[in-house]
Amino acid sequence: MRAEAPDARRKRIVIVGGGFAGVAAARALKRCDADVVVIDQRNHYIFQPLLYQVATAVLAPSEIAAPIRQLAKVQKNVSVTLGEVTGVNLDARSVDVSCPDVGMRKVRFDFLVIATGMRPSYFGHDEFAEYAPGLKSLADAETIRARILSAYERADATDDQCQRARQMTFVLVGGGPTGVELAASMAQLAKVTLRSQFRRIDPASSSIILVEGSKRILPTFAESLAKRATRRLEKLGVEIQTGVKVEAVDEKGVVANGTRIDSATVLWTAGVAASPITKLLGRETDRAGRVSVGPGLDVPGVPDVFVVGDASSITSDGRPVPGVAQAAIQQGRYVGRLIARQLKGRKPGRPFRYRDKGSMAVVGRNFAILESSHLRTSGFVTWLVWVLLHVMSLPQMQNRLRVQTQWFWSYFTGQRGARLIPERAAAPSEQR
Ligand SMILES: Cc1cc2nc3c(=O)[nH]c(=O)nc-3n(C[C@H](O)[C@H](O)[C@H](O)COP(=O)(O)OP(=O)(O)OC[C@H]3O[C@@H](n4cnc5c(N)ncnc54)[C@H](O)[C@@H]3O)c2cc1C
Repeated sequence: MRAEAPDARRKRIVIVGGGFAGVAAARALKRCDADVVVIDQRNHYIFQPLLYQVATAVLAPSEIAAPIRQLAKVQKNVSVTLGEVTGVNLDARSVDVSCPDVGMRKVRFDFLVIATGMRPSYFGHDEFAEYAPGLKSLADAETIRARILSAYERADATDDQCQRARQMTFVLVGGGPTGVELAASMAQLAKVTLRSQFRRIDPASSSIILVEGSKRILPTFAESLAKRATRRLEKLGVEIQTGVKVEAVDEKGVVANGTRIDSATVLWTAGVAASPITKLLGRETDRAGRVSVGPGLDVPGVPDVFVVGDASSITSDGRPVPGVAQAAIQQGRYVGRLIARQLKGRKPGRPFRYRDKGSMAVVGRNFAILESSHLRTSGFVTWLVWVLLHVMSLPQMQNRLRVQTQWFWSYFTGQRGARLIPERAAAPSEQR
């Protein structure tokens, strides 16, 4: 393993994870007289709230992503390393990084910020992953897109009615915001985009089934909003099954509450767990593997080591801080500023406090729901607010321009620009 020669002059802040929290922490250290090293296993930052649109062919992957390395161009004290952190040595104050095609590197740190987010969790049934991809990365979104589009192609090609019905049945496990947004977008793909494009099947007759374990969908939203979203989904033709526990997922479909649903395309949006690196800290974690952090997002008992974003577990004003982009950005910014103050010899300041700016979910074209403290709205105007906020939040100007153009085109024509099945996805081994 290659170790670096220590530079005693400048402090080094290592940030593991270049997502919402990691990038916010790096930016908050802009004016700091220290080296900031951002390490990520991917070379790109993903705007995850729009991943479902890549999965349903509205947008292309590059439209919602930006190179993390871009940060080094605009911020002189930042350097970026592509690699997976596989080890954390708190005594030696270094992390082990596995760099693709190069090998292991040891990177020392004075301050460590873990911002590694979450990944799909199958609640102890990892064997489901092969048949029911989750939605977390661009590769996941492309896999889902290929599975959906390939299912329609196979339904059109077969003469077997049972096989056709199975190909045209789509099951989504998990009725949170991602499941709801994905289901609504799939319904529109079937009813509008694919209309009149097949001669042997009618895509509008496909079954899109949203399965949720709790009593209602969107459990993090007020019941009134969840009801409105339910009505909207049903209007789009999505079948909602609540209080249903998925017991098995295999090549034939799913078994839910003892009943088999034959389906060639099962998608998983039911749960998440923290990236395994949190376990390497050897500190207390919650059931989802998130590290229980102190009031300054610090790892208790370990000086100058912090966990931010989805990978941390903390309460603010007596309530758990949710795993959403706003919380991750606020936490990253907080820790960046805290370290900057510490480097100047100042006191740490106030404990972290989450400012909830509200949550939104979009249910197809022209309809979104919004909950912000006591405000609960839904409908077309809320959808316009959703559109505006999401365009503004995209990482770069070119993302904003490209997404606006695609949305404008697909709003008025109903067509989707990214309806591609990669050639490898059509290989016989992947045909189901
Ligand atoms: C499909 C989907 C839709 C969502 N929609 C919304 C929404 O509408 N609104 C909202 O507010 N929130 C939404 N979220 C949640 C939001 O995206 C997260 O809360 C946010 O991304 C958390 O930021 P983070 O920086 O903690 O983690 P992430 O943004 O996930 O970043 C973590 C980074 O760490 C890297 N990493 C992980 N492990 C390692 C390792 N060992 N070594 C090196 N790098 C590593 C990853 O590659 C990644 O780049 C959505 C999430 C998903 C998955």
